[in-house]
Amino acid sequence: TRQSHIRNFSIVAHIDHGKSTISDRILEATHTVTEREMQNQLLDTMDLERERGITIKMNAVEVHYKANDGETYIFHLVDTPGHVDFSYEVSRSLAAADGAILVVDAAQGVEAQTLANVYLALENDLEILPLINKIDLPAADPEAVRAEIEDVIGIDASEAVLASAKQGIGIPELLEQIVAKIPAPEGDLDAPLQALIFDSAYDSYKGVILTVRVKEGVMQPGDKIRFMNSGAEYEITEVGVNSPHPVKRDFLMAGDIGYVAASIKNIRDARPGDTITSVKNPAAEALPGYQPMTPMVYSGLYPTDNSKYNDLREALEKLQLNDASLEFEPETSQALGFGFRTGFLGLLHMDVVQERLEREFDMELITTAPSVTYHAYTTDGEMVEVANPSELPEASAIKWIEEPYVHAQIMVPNEYVGAVMELAQQKRGEFDTMDYLDQNRVNVKYYIPLSEIIFDFFDKLKSNTRGYASLDYEISGYRQSDLVKIDILLNGDKVDALSFIVHKDFAQERSRIITAKLKQIIPRRNFEIPVQAAIGSKIVSRSTIKAYRKDVTSKIHTGDPDRRAKLLDKQKRGKKRMKAVGTVDVPQEAFMAVLKAE
Ligand code: GDP
Ligand code: MG
Repeated sequence: TRQSHIRNFSIVAHIDHGKSTISDRILEATHTVTEREMQNQLLDTMDLERERGITIKMNAVEVHYKANDGETYIFHLVDTPGHVDFSYEVSRSLAAADGAILVVDAAQGVEAQTLANVYLALENDLEILPLINKIDLPAADPEAVRAEIEDVIGIDASEAVLASAKQGIGIPELLEQIVAKIPAPEGDLDAPLQALIFDSAYDSYKGVILTVRVKEGVMQPGDKIRFMNSGAEYEITEVGVNSPHPVKRDFLMAGDIGYVAASIKNIRDARPGDTITSVKNPAAEALPGYQPMTPMVYSGLYPTDNSKYNDLREALEKLQLNDASLEFEPETSQALGFGFRTGFLGLLHMDVVQERLEREFDMELITTAPSVTYHAYTTDGEMVEVANPSELPEASAIKWIEEPYVHAQIMVPNEYVGAVMELAQQKRGEFDTMDYLDQNRVNVKYYIPLSEIIFDFFDKLKSNTRGYASLDYEISGYRQSDLVKIDILLNGDKVDALSFIVHKDFAQERSRIITAKLKQIIPRRNFEIPVQAAIGSKIVSRSTIKAYRKDVTSKIHTGDPDRRAKLLDKQKRGKKRMKAVGTVDVPQEAFMAVLKAE
């Protein structure tokens, strides 16, 4: 049957171990793309992914493979991101797959996200096919890595494919293993339709386009469908698969992964995690959806032009379709006006969201400094969740404050253990355990405040271990900490959007750094601007931005009106991503100054 010839799988790994390159080789070996079309990391289709050389979005494609048994198999392959900020993409793709190819770098071995992804695959009961990649590297030690996969992960790696995605080694064996070891999907074609939405995107012509895994039944254009959680009903206009370009199909059936369009204009009707059923013959129950993600960090997003508030809301709603881990709700700031408090899984995610809003939706934004969510216990016995530092109650009304901690695991070669521990200690970490992965590497576990992890822990970890350490973490709970809020005053006025919360021990130092930074970042005016940091009413640090009297154009003696206009224009563009706060212009950079610890 057709179903017995389908294989659905995800490719998972630690970042940079070669997932996207393996996908390239599979696309090539199955003649899915022509030689002319082929390019590196073909499935990284976003400009942003190509520029940064990382996968941000999962990508599901169909390829056809003629196996050694003479039969042709349909593979639905999902390439996934490796960075911890995009793990929600991985977990959603795994819920649509029957197997996972676990790629491990032959020179690096098992890393923190290798393990994290294995756990996700196991939670979804997937068959895991280990593959050891980059055997071409001089430092490759495939046999040691094979042993490590067995010892650390606890799966059989005796038949792990030894591959070099770069040189095309091992790809034929991989394709045969996929056929032989990944189970064909199950599901009854005659049963009521159940299709799990695991991704979506907005298309201005076709409306919302959903990526689905059909679990039961069949769907085809003309069918009336219902979204079981939202209750919305539509008629299917098109179904198809990406191969890698969209190809229309007559139907999708139980076991298929493909896309569905139904002229859906209301983006709230069809969220990832919802189940599609048919109106005529509805299923009794929705499929289990996804655990919603809890954002790790929040920041305020404000349009530089206040009149673009509604455009920003629309842009965020559309982006949310394609980024299920994005959360937002309206907030107002005295300094910045109307905007949205937005939740992210980390700073890379925050950066990507801001970039995508600017590129794909033509928004011009100010992003305020990221903050974790604090719990403030007040004297009236209440607990206030504070995701925006300026909303922390008065110090006199607070009994104590708690902050989120993570359980972090850091995999690192022996010789850097000392450096890792020193850093973790500096960042207020509490040692948990240390296990040997093999003779050369250890897994060090710490409890560390999330705020410290988010800010510059990862960069420091990388530089202190010459790039050899990998990090994974999960929230472990809240703990009481000695925290204070620091307010920033510009020209005597408190700028709510610049407030931040910090541990008491670092308060003085951070205040000094920030007032110094702001002095450099904030453009001069024709009057002196004092920059002050305050805890409550007490000023703890101060700098002064000197007055600036000259107009830049006065430097031009030629009086050439053309040059003068150009220069003024350049000045204007330089003002982009700047917000007038009272009498002072505050550039985007100023809001991020808080992140710079030295
Ligand atoms: P991903 O983050 O897991 O998707 O990894 P990519 O596929 O983007 O690859 C990361 C880097 O490793 C790229 O520079 C690839 O060219 C390189 N790479 C991938 N496979 C191999 C391989 O087999 N050998 C070598 N030497 N480099 C590889
Ligand atoms: Mg990739």
